[in-house]
Amino acid sequence: MARLILKRGAERRLRAGHPWVYRGEIADLKGKWSAGEAVDVLAAGGQFVGRGFYNPRPTLACRLLTGEDEPIDGAFVLRRLRTAYGYREAAALVGDAYRLCWSEGDGLPGLVVDRYGPVSVVQSLTLGMSRAMPWIASALAELFPEGSIYRLDDSTAARIEGFEVERGWLAPPHPDHADEIVVTEGACRFAVALGSGHKTGFYLDQRENRRAVAAVAGGRRMLDAFSYTGAFACHGLRAGATQALLIDSSAEALGLARRNLELNGLADRAELREANAFDALRELEAARRRFGLIVLDPPPFTRRKDAVEAAARGYKEINLRALRLLEPGGVLATFSCSHHVTPAVFEAVCRDAAGDSGIQPRVISTLGQARDHPVLLTVPETRYLTGLLLQV
Ligand code: SAH
Repeated sequence: MARLILKRGAERRLRAGHPWVYRGEIADLKGKWSAGEAVDVLAAGGQFVGRGFYNPRPTLACRLLTGEDEPIDGAFVLRRLRTAYGYREAAALVGDAYRLCWSEGDGLPGLVVDRYGPVSVVQSLTLGMSRAMPWIASALAELFPEGSIYRLDDSTAARIEGFEVERGWLAPPHPDHADEIVVTEGACRFAVALGSGHKTGFYLDQRENRRAVAAVAGGRRMLDAFSYTGAFACHGLRAGATQALLIDSSAEALGLARRNLELNGLADRAELREANAFDALRELEAARRRFGLIVLDPPPFTRRKDAVEAAARGYKEINLRALRLLEPGGVLATFSCSHHVTPAVFEAVCRDAAGDSGIQPRVISTLGQARDHPVLLTVPETRYLTGLLLQV
């Protein structure tokens, strides 16, 4: 196996549990290597640090898969996925859709696997993982003998890493499995259209926050801003919200939202509006519309560290508007899924918005990503979703 020799001191961060090797930290590469294959990572003095897939193309050239002297092969992938599955089983997640593997969070950097009922949707984020697909497929076949596998690679990652995006069934699916799957989450059912929309089709990371929102929804008029396919609205209505207004800029997302509302028998209490939420919130305020429950779940306003300030302005604007739209006693569930906007930064932004609005909301709880998207304490990059449940 090829050996990647680190520059002096670069092993310290790796040994402290952060598995990334940047190109600039590499002193030398010895032996025959091939992009996407595993290499031994050694400290400048020659001590073994770990093993991971190497790719000379991206700045993040290697992510350690293990710190042990163990082969990286099909058996390794199966062990890691089995452990990941055990963790999900013990977590007693609600429903039959969940993230089975969250990259670094599950010791398989570059691999995401989401389960929608019997179907595993697999996403590779690195060249190494895309080449390891046969191992991943046979591990999934072992864990879920009745399942089918759908491949849905991330195109941004493919460009950075230099691999071909693969999308579609990995092998002919089980005859009962189609491109649209209906999953359950608590009291609601949701249609997931494989191969279209965001993420792998559904925002699994909000499962536990949808439950928190449902718990306070009874008897309230609800606004679901940035609704996507209406998951928050469905849970709110199912839990007794009197009506819901869904706002999203994507007609396609709203089409699926309508389907989900119908699936749950809730369509008659919902209104769908295709609009830019920034404009819509302003218009609702001008029209003196008021709500007892508002959800703000926008897309990441930045993916870059140097754009946090601009993102903060966006978050402040929508939170200020939302606070003004709440009736007395009203509840706001507000989120950021920009990794660089930390919980502390997000709280400061919401504090700023509250200051300008003249409202002093109480923090009912702080919110984060669902348990099947585990955060590693030593890898802060595994945390990206943060939120607050506020009450006026
Ligand atoms: N709350 C959803 C996920 C929201 S994802 C759930 O639980 O499933 C963010 C959504 O914001 C996407 O559907 C996207 O289409 C929408 N969006 C992005 N920019 C927008 C804008 N300016 N106005 C309204 N919607 C927007």
